[in-house]
Amino acid sequence: MIGVDLHAHSTASDGFLSPRALMERAAGRGLPVVALTDHDTLTGLAEAALAASEFELRFIPGVEVSANWEGRTLHVLGLGIDTAAPALIEALDRQTELRTARGLAIAGRLERLGFKAAADRAMTMSSGASIGRAHFARALVETGVTRNEEAAFKRYLRPGRPAHVAGGWIELDEAVAALLAAGGQAVLAHPMRYNLSQTAFRRLMEVFVAAGGTGLELGPARLSAAELDTIVGACHRHRLRVSLGSDFHGPGPVAELGTTASLPDRMEVVWEHWGIERLPQRL
Ligand code: AMP
Ligand code: MN
Ligand code: MN
Ligand code: MN
Repeated sequence: MIGVDLHAHSTASDGFLSPRALMERAAGRGLPVVALTDHDTLTGLAEAALAASEFELRFIPGVEVSANWEGRTLHVLGLGIDTAAPALIEALDRQTELRTARGLAIAGRLERLGFKAAADRAMTMSSGASIGRAHFARALVETGVTRNEEAAFKRYLRPGRPAHVAGGWIELDEAVAALLAAGGQAVLAHPMRYNLSQTAFRRLMEVFVAAGGTGLELGPARLSAAELDTIVGACHRHRLRVSLGSDFHGPGPVAELGTTASLPDRMEVVWEHWGIERLPQRL
């Protein structure tokens, strides 16, 4: 474990732990620097910041923004954002409206497919949170429709499947601009999860850098050597910083908080920007 985790979710979106419980877990695992990056919402950040100071953690306020690029959804992490910045608040208010409308549309589709119980369950479990497909996936599992979340995504929730509804998210360059306007760093989350061809990935890097993107996340923790090379190579070529995060959603078999890829030598890292000079020691 490395000591910085700049990608994690709470009950403010599709995580299982409250913002406070997340900070408590970071402290319990000896993780000194932690960000909260819920999907398209800042609502968990105040509680997390308060808890982080109680547990003496260095807290980085963040958000994971859903964005459109050439018809695909990409995730852009905003790290070290000013949570009072009007441009960001405006953009996220709009995203929240889109998420709510999409949630209702997904629920409607599931009902028509004969899964009213799952639709109702998802609406209940996401109340007060930034609603997302993970809530529907969990409800489909709980109501016995699919064996696990992976199957729920595969059969119903992915693009091309019967309960998929497009988000209508803001454009990539607008997302980056809103995050920069809030004094944050804009980091492309899990760059290898978008199934891009090499050509498309290179094009994305050009566009991302032109938009003002700051860095790339070196994640998830288990990257192949080739994937690692692609990310590290793009960072060097475009002078992008690297970020590390687990994309923790809750206790379980995958992606424990603080579990990240290990950092190659001589990389510029996003946390230097906040005066965190050296990597905190392993604990
Ligand atoms: P949304 O932003 O509402 O489209 O949901 C994206 C979230 O769904 C991701 O952050 C993950 O938490 C979850 N997710 C996406 N694909 C899968 C999958 N195949 N299995 C489990 N969870 C997934
Ligand atoms: Mn998620
Ligand atoms: Mn993501
Ligand atoms: Mn995430």
